[in-house]
Amino acid sequence: METGLKNRVAIVAASSQGLGRATAEAFAAEGCRVAMCARNKETLSAAAEKIRSQYKTDVLAEAFDVTDAPAVRDFVNAVVQKFGSADICVTNAGGPPAKGFLATTIEEWKRAVELNFMSAVYFAHQVIPHMQKKKWGRIIAITSITTKQPVADLVYSNAVRAAVVGLVKSLANEFGKDGILVNNVGPGYTATDRLKELARSRSAASGQPEQEIFEGWAADAPLNRLGEPRELADTIVWLASERASYITGQTILVDGGLYKGL
Ligand code: NAD
Repeated sequence: METGLKNRVAIVAASSQGLGRATAEAFAAEGCRVAMCARNKETLSAAAEKIRSQYKTDVLAEAFDVTDAPAVRDFVNAVVQKFGSADICVTNAGGPPAKGFLATTIEEWKRAVELNFMSAVYFAHQVIPHMQKKKWGRIIAITSITTKQPVADLVYSNAVRAAVVGLVKSLANEFGKDGILVNNVGPGYTATDRLKELARSRSAASGQPEQEIFEGWAADAPLNRLGEPRELADTIVWLASERASYITGQTILVDGGLYKGL
Protein backbone atom coordinates (compact mmCIF):
# COMPACT_ATOMS: atom_id res chain seq x y z
CA MET A 1 0.00 0.00 0.00
CA GLU A 2 1.46 3.37 -0.98
CA THR A 3 1.02 5.62 2.04
CA GLY A 4 2.42 8.84 0.55
CA LEU A 5 4.20 9.48 3.83
CA LYS A 6 7.81 9.59 2.60
CA ASN A 7 9.61 12.67 3.98
CA ARG A 8 6.65 13.77 6.05
CA VAL A 9 7.56 15.02 9.52
CA ALA A 10 5.94 12.97 12.28
CA ILE A 11 5.93 14.05 15.92
CA VAL A 12 5.17 11.21 18.32
CA ALA A 13 4.73 12.17 21.97
CA ALA A 14 5.74 9.89 24.86
CA SER A 15 7.65 7.58 22.55
CA SER A 16 10.60 6.03 24.39
CA GLN A 17 8.69 2.73 24.79
CA GLY A 18 5.34 1.01 24.29
CA LEU A 19 2.74 2.33 21.86
CA GLY A 20 4.51 5.65 21.24
CA ARG A 21 7.79 3.98 20.40
CA ALA A 22 6.12 1.46 18.06
CA THR A 23 4.40 4.39 16.33
CA ALA A 24 7.65 6.35 15.90
CA GLU A 25 9.20 3.23 14.41
CA ALA A 26 6.28 2.64 12.04
CA PHE A 27 6.57 6.22 10.70
CA ALA A 28 10.32 5.81 10.28
CA ALA A 29 9.67 2.63 8.29
CA GLU A 30 7.50 4.73 5.93
CA GLY A 31 10.41 7.13 5.33
CA CYS A 32 9.15 9.90 7.63
CA ARG A 33 11.44 12.16 9.60
CA VAL A 34 10.53 11.53 13.20
CA ALA A 35 10.47 13.66 16.37
CA MET A 36 10.29 11.79 19.66
CA CYS A 37 10.00 12.80 23.31
CA ALA A 38 9.67 11.26 26.78
CA ARG A 39 10.81 12.16 30.26
CA ASN A 40 13.78 9.83 30.61
CA LYS A 41 16.70 11.02 28.50
CA GLU A 42 18.64 7.76 28.43
CA THR A 43 15.75 5.48 27.43
CA LEU A 44 14.62 8.03 24.85
CA SER A 45 18.10 8.47 23.33
CA ALA A 46 18.52 4.70 23.10
CA ALA A 47 15.15 4.31 21.35
CA ALA A 48 15.90 7.21 18.98
CA GLU A 49 19.34 5.84 18.10
CA LYS A 50 17.92 2.40 17.34
CA ILE A 51 15.28 3.87 15.00
CA ARG A 52 17.82 6.20 13.37
CA SER A 53 20.23 3.39 12.56
CA GLN A 54 17.62 0.80 11.60
CA TYR A 55 15.67 3.02 9.20
CA LYS A 56 18.44 5.46 8.17
CA THR A 57 16.15 8.36 8.87
CA ASP A 58 16.46 11.68 10.68
CA VAL A 59 15.25 11.51 14.28
CA LEU A 60 15.00 14.41 16.72
CA ALA A 61 14.64 13.34 20.35
CA GLU A 62 14.15 15.63 23.34
CA ALA A 63 13.50 14.70 26.96
CA PHE A 64 10.71 16.61 28.71
CA ASP A 65 7.37 16.09 30.40
CA VAL A 66 4.37 16.46 28.06
CA THR A 67 2.49 18.28 30.85
CA ASP A 68 5.01 21.14 30.56
CA ALA A 69 3.38 23.52 28.04
CA PRO A 70 6.47 25.72 27.42
CA ALA A 71 8.54 22.57 26.84
CA VAL A 72 6.00 21.33 24.25
CA ARG A 73 6.16 24.74 22.54
CA ASP A 74 9.97 24.68 22.44
CA PHE A 75 9.97 21.12 21.12
CA VAL A 76 7.56 21.87 18.26
CA ASN A 77 9.63 24.96 17.41
CA ALA A 78 12.77 22.81 17.36
CA VAL A 79 11.04 20.26 15.09
CA VAL A 80 9.99 22.96 12.61
CA GLN A 81 13.42 24.55 12.72
CA LYS A 82 15.13 21.22 12.01
CA PHE A 83 12.70 19.64 9.56
CA GLY A 84 10.80 22.64 8.12
CA SER A 85 7.30 21.50 9.13
CA ALA A 86 5.19 19.54 11.59
CA ASP A 87 2.95 17.45 9.33
CA ILE A 88 1.77 14.72 11.68
CA CYS A 89 1.33 14.88 15.44
CA VAL A 90 0.49 11.87 17.57
CA THR A 91 -0.48 12.88 21.10
CA ASN A 92 0.28 10.38 23.83
CA ALA A 93 1.32 10.16 27.50
CA GLY A 94 1.60 7.61 30.27
CA GLY A 95 -1.62 6.22 31.72
CA PRO A 96 -3.20 7.41 34.99
CA PRO A 97 -3.24 5.14 38.08
CA ALA A 98 -5.83 2.34 38.30
CA LYS A 99 -8.35 3.04 41.07
CA GLY A 100 -11.98 2.93 42.03
CA PHE A 101 -13.61 6.32 42.61
CA LEU A 102 -13.43 6.50 46.42
CA ALA A 103 -9.69 5.84 46.36
CA THR A 104 -9.06 8.77 44.02
CA THR A 105 -7.60 12.07 45.19
CA ILE A 106 -8.07 15.63 43.97
CA GLU A 107 -4.36 15.92 43.22
CA GLU A 108 -4.46 12.77 41.07
CA TRP A 109 -7.54 14.03 39.21
CA LYS A 110 -5.67 17.22 38.36
CA ARG A 111 -2.62 15.22 37.29
CA ALA A 112 -4.79 12.95 35.08
CA VAL A 113 -6.34 15.99 33.39
CA GLU A 114 -2.86 17.45 32.76
CA LEU A 115 -1.36 14.16 31.60
CA ASN A 116 -4.13 12.72 29.47
CA PHE A 117 -6.03 15.80 28.30
CA MET A 118 -4.04 19.03 28.56
CA SER A 119 -0.95 17.45 26.99
CA ALA A 120 -3.03 16.90 23.82
CA VAL A 121 -4.21 20.53 23.98
CA TYR A 122 -0.60 21.75 24.28
CA PHE A 123 0.53 19.80 21.21
CA ALA A 124 -2.52 20.74 19.13
CA HIS A 125 -2.03 24.43 19.96
CA GLN A 126 1.52 24.36 18.72
CA VAL A 127 1.22 22.22 15.58
CA ILE A 128 -2.02 23.51 14.04
CA PRO A 129 -0.63 26.89 12.84
CA HIS A 130 2.18 25.05 11.02
CA MET A 131 -0.29 22.60 9.47
CA GLN A 132 -2.53 25.48 8.38
CA LYS A 133 0.38 27.04 6.49
CA LYS A 134 0.81 23.82 4.48
CA LYS A 135 -2.94 23.18 4.17
CA TRP A 136 -2.18 19.61 5.27
CA GLY A 137 -1.96 17.98 8.65
CA ARG A 138 -2.85 14.97 10.75
CA ILE A 139 -3.42 14.91 14.49
CA ILE A 140 -4.00 11.51 16.03
CA ALA A 141 -4.66 11.09 19.73
CA ILE A 142 -3.73 7.82 21.44
CA THR A 143 -6.35 7.30 24.15
CA SER A 144 -8.00 4.03 25.15
CA ILE A 145 -10.94 1.69 24.69
CA THR A 146 -12.28 3.60 27.73
CA THR A 147 -13.43 6.33 25.29
CA LYS A 148 -16.16 3.87 24.22
CA GLN A 149 -16.46 1.44 27.08
CA PRO A 150 -15.45 2.25 30.69
CA VAL A 151 -13.09 -0.22 32.35
CA ALA A 152 -13.56 -1.10 36.03
CA ASP A 153 -11.02 0.64 38.29
CA LEU A 154 -9.83 2.98 35.56
CA VAL A 155 -12.06 5.86 36.60
CA TYR A 156 -9.48 8.54 35.75
CA SER A 157 -9.10 7.16 32.24
CA ASN A 158 -12.85 6.58 31.81
CA ALA A 159 -13.60 10.20 32.70
CA VAL A 160 -10.68 12.23 31.39
CA ARG A 161 -10.22 10.57 28.00
CA ALA A 162 -13.79 11.44 27.03
CA ALA A 163 -12.64 15.07 26.97
CA VAL A 164 -10.01 14.15 24.38
CA VAL A 165 -12.77 12.79 22.13
CA GLY A 166 -14.59 16.13 22.49
CA LEU A 167 -11.38 17.92 21.58
CA VAL A 168 -10.71 15.66 18.60
CA LYS A 169 -14.21 16.16 17.22
CA SER A 170 -14.02 19.95 17.74
CA LEU A 171 -10.63 20.24 16.02
CA ALA A 172 -11.82 18.05 13.16
CA ASN A 173 -14.79 20.39 12.66
CA GLU A 174 -12.81 23.61 12.95
CA PHE A 175 -9.76 22.72 10.88
CA GLY A 176 -11.12 20.43 8.17
CA LYS A 177 -11.16 23.49 5.91
CA ASP A 178 -7.37 23.66 6.30
CA GLY A 179 -6.81 20.05 5.24
CA ILE A 180 -6.15 18.98 8.82
CA LEU A 181 -7.62 15.59 9.79
CA VAL A 182 -8.01 14.80 13.47
CA ASN A 183 -8.79 11.35 14.85
CA ASN A 184 -8.60 9.31 18.01
CA VAL A 185 -7.31 5.74 18.35
CA GLY A 186 -8.31 3.64 21.34
CA PRO A 187 -6.14 0.63 22.14
CA GLY A 188 -7.58 -2.36 23.93
CA TYR A 189 -5.29 -4.54 26.05
CA THR A 190 -1.91 -4.26 24.35
CA ALA A 191 1.33 -5.89 25.49
CA THR A 192 3.41 -3.01 26.91
CA ASP A 193 4.89 -2.02 30.27
CA ARG A 194 1.68 -0.11 31.04
CA LEU A 195 -0.25 -3.36 30.93
CA LYS A 196 2.27 -5.03 33.26
CA GLU A 197 1.81 -2.09 35.64
CA LEU A 198 -1.99 -2.53 35.52
CA ALA A 199 -1.69 -6.29 36.12
CA ARG A 200 0.56 -5.61 39.13
CA SER A 201 -1.88 -3.17 40.71
CA ARG A 202 -4.91 -5.42 40.03
CA SER A 203 -3.04 -8.37 41.47
CA ALA A 204 -2.03 -6.41 44.59
CA ALA A 205 -5.66 -5.33 45.11
CA SER A 206 -7.33 -8.71 44.46
CA GLY A 207 -4.71 -11.34 45.20
CA GLN A 208 -5.29 -12.86 41.75
CA PRO A 209 -2.00 -13.94 40.10
CA GLU A 210 -0.79 -11.58 37.35
CA GLN A 211 -0.70 -14.41 34.80
CA GLU A 212 -4.42 -15.07 35.32
CA ILE A 213 -5.17 -11.38 34.91
CA PHE A 214 -3.36 -11.36 31.54
CA GLU A 215 -5.22 -14.48 30.47
CA GLY A 216 -8.53 -12.90 31.46
CA TRP A 217 -7.81 -9.80 29.38
CA ALA A 218 -6.87 -11.92 26.37
CA ALA A 219 -10.02 -14.03 26.74
CA ASP A 220 -12.24 -10.92 26.88
CA ALA A 221 -11.42 -10.10 23.26
CA PRO A 222 -12.93 -12.18 20.43
CA LEU A 223 -9.42 -12.51 18.96
CA ASN A 224 -8.46 -14.21 22.24
CA ARG A 225 -5.09 -12.54 22.67
CA LEU A 226 -3.49 -9.26 23.66
CA GLY A 227 -2.70 -6.69 21.01
CA GLU A 228 0.85 -5.96 19.84
CA PRO A 229 2.03 -2.32 19.90
CA ARG A 230 2.78 -2.56 16.16
CA GLU A 231 -0.93 -3.22 15.47
CA LEU A 232 -1.91 0.15 16.94
CA ALA A 233 1.06 1.81 15.22
CA ASP A 234 0.02 0.47 11.80
CA THR A 235 -3.48 1.87 12.29
CA ILE A 236 -2.02 5.28 13.15
CA VAL A 237 0.21 5.22 10.07
CA TRP A 238 -2.78 4.36 7.90
CA LEU A 239 -4.82 7.22 9.44
CA ALA A 240 -1.95 9.63 8.75
CA SER A 241 -1.55 8.38 5.19
CA GLU A 242 -3.12 9.56 1.95
CA ARG A 243 -5.16 6.33 2.00
CA ALA A 244 -7.32 7.68 4.85
CA SER A 245 -7.91 11.11 3.31
CA TYR A 246 -11.68 11.25 4.01
CA ILE A 247 -11.60 10.16 7.65
CA THR A 248 -11.74 12.80 10.36
CA GLY A 249 -13.37 13.29 13.77
CA GLN A 250 -13.48 9.52 14.37
CA THR A 251 -12.59 7.18 17.19
CA ILE A 252 -11.10 3.94 15.95
CA LEU A 253 -10.59 1.11 18.41
CA VAL A 254 -7.71 -1.31 17.95
CA ASP A 255 -8.92 -3.79 20.51
CA GLY A 256 -9.30 -7.26 18.96
CA GLY A 257 -13.07 -6.82 19.20
CA LEU A 258 -13.08 -6.15 22.97
CA TYR A 259 -15.67 -3.35 22.72
CA LYS A 260 -19.04 -5.01 23.23
CA GLY A 261 -21.34 -2.43 21.63
CA LEU A 262 -22.56 -2.09 18.06
P1 NAD B 1 4.01 2.65 28.48
O1 NAD B 1 4.00 2.87 29.94
O2 NAD B 1 4.58 1.39 27.94
O3 NAD B 1 4.74 3.89 27.74
C1 NAD B 1 4.43 5.19 28.06
C2 NAD B 1 5.39 6.15 27.40
O4 NAD B 1 5.05 7.46 27.80
C3 NAD B 1 6.84 5.98 27.81
O5 NAD B 1 7.67 6.28 26.71
C4 NAD B 1 7.02 7.03 28.90
O6 NAD B 1 8.37 7.42 29.03
C5 NAD B 1 6.17 8.14 28.34
N1 NAD B 1 5.63 9.08 29.31
C6 NAD B 1 4.86 8.78 30.37
N2 NAD B 1 4.50 9.90 31.00
C7 NAD B 1 5.07 10.92 30.32
C8 NAD B 1 5.09 12.33 30.50
N3 NAD B 1 4.44 12.91 31.51
N4 NAD B 1 5.78 13.09 29.61
C9 NAD B 1 6.46 12.50 28.60
N5 NAD B 1 6.48 11.19 28.39
C10 NAD B 1 5.80 10.41 29.24
O7 NAD B 1 2.48 2.82 28.05
P2 NAD B 1 1.71 2.38 26.70
O8 NAD B 1 1.11 1.04 26.91
O9 NAD B 1 2.57 2.64 25.54
O10 NAD B 1 0.48 3.39 26.76
C11 NAD B 1 0.44 4.66 26.12
C12 NAD B 1 -0.91 5.27 26.42
O11 NAD B 1 -1.95 4.40 25.94
C13 NAD B 1 -1.16 5.43 27.93
O12 NAD B 1 -1.88 6.63 28.16
C14 NAD B 1 -2.02 4.23 28.27
O13 NAD B 1 -2.81 4.41 29.40
C15 NAD B 1 -2.84 4.10 27.00
N6 NAD B 1 -3.41 2.77 26.85
C16 NAD B 1 -2.62 1.67 26.85
C17 NAD B 1 -3.21 0.42 26.73
C18 NAD B 1 -2.39 -0.85 26.76
O14 NAD B 1 -2.99 -1.93 26.88
N7 NAD B 1 -1.08 -0.78 26.65
C19 NAD B 1 -4.62 0.30 26.61
C20 NAD B 1 -5.38 1.45 26.61
C21 NAD B 1 -4.77 2.68 26.72
